[in-house]
Amino acid sequence: MNIPARLLLSALAALALSSCYQVPVTGRSAISLVDDKELTKMSITMFDDEKRRTKVSRDPARIAQLQRVGERISKVVFWDMPDADWEFVVFDRPEVNAFAMAGGKVGVYTGLYKVAKTDDEVAAVIAHEIAHVTAKHVHERLSRELAVRTVGAVGMIGGAVAGAPGLTIDMLGAAYGLTTELGGFAYDRRAEKEADYIGLMYMARAGYDPQAAIRVMEALDATSANEPMPPAFLSTHPTGPERIIQLMDAMPKALEEMEKSSYRTGPKIVK
Ligand SMILES: [Zn+2]
Repeated sequence: MNIPARLLLSALAALALSSCYQVPVTGRSAISLVDDKELTKMSITMFDDEKRRTKVSRDPARIAQLQRVGERISKVVFWDMPDADWEFVVFDRPEVNAFAMAGGKVGVYTGLYKVAKTDDEVAAVIAHEIAHVTAKHVHERLSRELAVRTVGAVGMIGGAVAGAPGLTIDMLGAAYGLTTELGGFAYDRRAEKEADYIGLMYMARAGYDPQAAIRVMEALDATSANEPMPPAFLSTHPTGPERIIQLMDAMPKALEEMEKSSYRTGPKIVK
């Protein structure tokens, strides 16, 4: 078989695995070339590895806060991640960082408390991270990477192997920003703004004050201005004035969502 035919076969194989999905809250349509179940399984393994490798915090106040906030956000996103087995872990590391993974695994580094202290502020960060997961931004990044590697592999081997190269743990680690191979893997600004918007609505629906999202972003900018090394969080989540402007634009809607939240109004009494 000649190379174009092999290429076509590979492309068809990739397409067979692909699926269409709709991003929650924004309703944007997107395509994933990544097997959802495989990605979730690998993410859970990676999170378990992280728990073995990195010291887990024993600070009872921070642990209780993360559980409290995490539980409320996870209830709000229930229909966007119905199969999630939620886990919220505080890691004892000085970097300003937090991450969420497919399958409902959420990690916060103690360094994050430099920029997020109150429940509202922690909720802003976690809701943003979970929004990246429900919007499947990692799927999108890996799909692009796999597409490039498929074309590369077929070209190189001259079509000796038909079929798309698989997802590797290194690629996934980089996509989540957990390994140093960050360069090509930072979320792009479109994904950042989408996660900001979705996260803002999630936190508001969970009854948290959405204005805390702006405070956190300003604190992040201030931290990066004072430190020679930008916070780890910023290398995977590039910031910029347009993000704060978008948050401000979306604030009236977010405040409305907060007012409607059952966490604000309390349980309805049925007579
Ligand atoms: Zn982000």
